[in-house]
Amino acid sequence: MDRYEEMAQKMAGMPEDELKKTVSSLMARCICGKCPTYNDCMKGKKEALFCALGKSACAITKKACLCPACPVTSMLGLKHGYYCIKGSEKELRGL
Ligand code: SF4
Ligand code: SF4
Repeated sequence: MDRYEEMAQKMAGMPEDELKKTVSSLMARCICGKCPTYNDCMKGKKEALFCALGKSACAITKKACLCPACPVTSMLGLKHGYYCIKGSEKELRGL
């Protein structure tokens, strides 16, 4: 089991209030808002943390992805990127 799988298992077992706090703390660290791909539609919908919450509901033009430089990538052991377009780490791993 790698870091991501351990973290996903831990989060799956969390009570709802603890899970909400964890998601808020990850959201605060997400750097999507500084990414060239992040557009006005995503901003308007207050979307972020696509690695955990899944893809955006907006139409997106792919420009660059800052996920590899994001602190959440090392915290959760993420291995992908462009989550706003492709879906969550869980989906991309087929879990
Ligand atoms: S890895 Fe990407 S989607 Fe996930 S929190 Fe960081 S910038 Fe946002
Ligand atoms: S998931 Fe990656 S490409 Fe999409 S907005 Fe966040 S940093 Fe940019």
